[in-house]
Amino acid sequence: MNILFMGPPGAGKGTQAERIVETFEIPHISTGDAFRLAMKQGTPLGQKAKEYVDQGLLVPDDVTNGIVRERLQQSDCDKGFLLDGFPRTLAQAEALDDMLSDMGKQINHVVNLKVDRSLLLARLTGRRICKACGATYHVLFNPPKQEGVCDKCEGELYQRSDDTEEKVGTRLDEYISKTAPLLAYYENKGLLREVDGEKEIDTVTSEIVSCLKGQAE
Ligand code: ADP
Ligand code: ADP
Ligand code: ZN
Repeated sequence: MNILFMGPPGAGKGTQAERIVETFEIPHISTGDAFRLAMKQGTPLGQKAKEYVDQGLLVPDDVTNGIVRERLQQSDCDKGFLLDGFPRTLAQAEALDDMLSDMGKQINHVVNLKVDRSLLLARLTGRRICKACGATYHVLFNPPKQEGVCDKCEGELYQRSDDTEEKVGTRLDEYISKTAPLLAYYENKGLLREVDGEKEIDTVTSEIVSCLKGQAE
């Protein structure tokens, strides 16, 4: 099953992706994670991405499309994949269609996590991530058992440098102007499934699973 997760920053895409990929045993492809890893390693891709990520702006399409094309060609994607945070522009969506058709594949489901803008700032500024395994927490809404420590691997939790009030404003503006128009693109293809992302994390997971299973039957 080939799945896309859409939704504004803070909608819960990463949180839900961690769970859905376990259920369906498919790889989780997050362009945000790929950029953060490259930035940490200081590779040329990382240096390029940093100019944009640090400002809360989208990384240029050619750079982003290149990493997705490479990733989708790896053999673990043959059984399906979950793309989280890609595509984010119409040009990326069109490039994805081309890549998939070259590989004889197509998207099966586009899940849009709907969360009102008024909730996103609190979600993003309270987000904490495990340095070791990438698991996502929230200081209030999904706290780890021990403050600052990952439940899964005991790794240290950190706050992303773009999860500040100032950067969040820019990121939400980028979402509204460049990414939100993609919803109509997928709706026109009959692929769009809307899920209420404001409910409890477990409830959202069950709704996504029933959407995916429902359509697959
Ligand atoms: P995204 O990947 O869409 O940017 P995340 O999955 O990282 O979003 O979630 C953003 C923050 O909100 C995290 O701190 C996460 O723990 C928290 N969160 C995710 N889903 C929910 C939910 N349904 N209710 C409350 N908080 C949530
Ligand atoms: P969130 O889901 O909280 O917005 P991500 O981790 O998905 O965060 O993305 C973090 C940053 O990485 C974005 O603000 C942007 O700079 C860059 N990025 C991620 N995915 C894309 C993409 N598809 N196109 C362009 N830039 C991207
Ligand atoms: Zn961890």
